Amino acid sequence: SVIQKVQAEGGNLIMSLSKADHESLSTRSIIEKRLLIALNQKDLRVLYQPQQDLTTDEITTVEALVRWEDSEIGIVPPDILIPIAEETGLINQIGSFMLEKACEQAVEWANAGTPIRISINTSIREFRDKNMVDTILKVLERTQCPPHLLQIEITEKFALEAEAEESIVSQMRKLQAKGIKFSLDDFGTGYASFRYMQLLPLEEFKIDRSFIAPIVYQEKTRALVQGMIQFGRSLHMRVVAEGVESEEQVSILREAGCDAIQGYQLSRPKVPQDIETLFTPNELL
Ligand code: C2E
Ligand code: MG
Ligand code: MG
Ligand code: MG
Repeated sequence: SVIQKVQAEGGNLIMSLSKADHESLSTRSIIEKRLLIALNQKDLRVLYQPQQDLTTDEITTVEALVRWEDSEIGIVPPDILIPIAEETGLINQIGSFMLEKACEQAVEWANAGTPIRISINTSIREFRDKNMVDTILKVLERTQCPPHLLQIEITEKFALEAEAEESIVSQMRKLQAKGIKFSLDDFGTGYASFRYMQLLPLEEFKIDRSFIAPIVYQEKTRALVQGMIQFGRSLHMRVVAEGVESEEQVSILREAGCDAIQGYQLSRPKVPQDIETLFTPNELL
């Protein structure tokens, strides 16, 4: 089989497979089996990507992104890992792992005089666990992490489904009351329902990078992004632009009143030691 061939040649299995192969049951079950082992051995890693505040030019927030390189199957990128983890339920374990790591890291930075908010990605399945609020509060307590240093990103798909699930909305409100912030990720790509803007306790949204890429040369997209930023301002929400790769994009976003930028132009996702050099002592948080 393809799988045996790639493994025999010592190549990266996951990268060598086509999209159809990824969707096949046998690939999924191999990934699932290896993921379970990796989770038990805490063999996942976290990279952090900084966001720069456009009013102060300081880094006040970093996003935590999961990384997994398995000794047998190689690197499994998040775009393959997360959907499989969501289907198998292992996303809850990935979520706890990321939460714990993020809180520990936030405390370490705060103790070093550079309090930085860490933003973690979540799936709705994690919030279907009735103990989610308790779990989060316990991890904050155990790690001594102040709640305002934690932010939770949800996707538009999450938001749309949450509208119909009162228990999820109430869990979000409980966490918000403790000082945890919620951010809407990949804004503009999903379901463009404004009802969840009205219903959910969201303090921020992140404009998806597919809108940021063409702003320099496409007037229509530029107008769209400017409109999104104004929309955010009138709702008193923080607006972050994702996938910012050039200086020209930064100036357009700055001009339009965007609050913060994240992307390769500033930094790729990196290990903590490699982004600390960008931090300046701050009292913002
Ligand atoms: P996301 O939350 O929208 O994260 C941003 C993604 O864009 C990251 O991909 C990041 O590496 C990439 N990126 C950042 N700046 C740039 C840029 O300037 N140009 C380009 N082309 N890409 C950029 P990554 O790390 O592969 O993650 C992909 C997605 O997987 C994330 O999208 C998020 O939805 C999901 N994800 C990652 N970690 C976790 C996790 O711990 N839990 C959950 N539930 N989802 C996660
Ligand atoms: Mg995100
Ligand atoms: Mg995003
Ligand atoms: Mg994304």
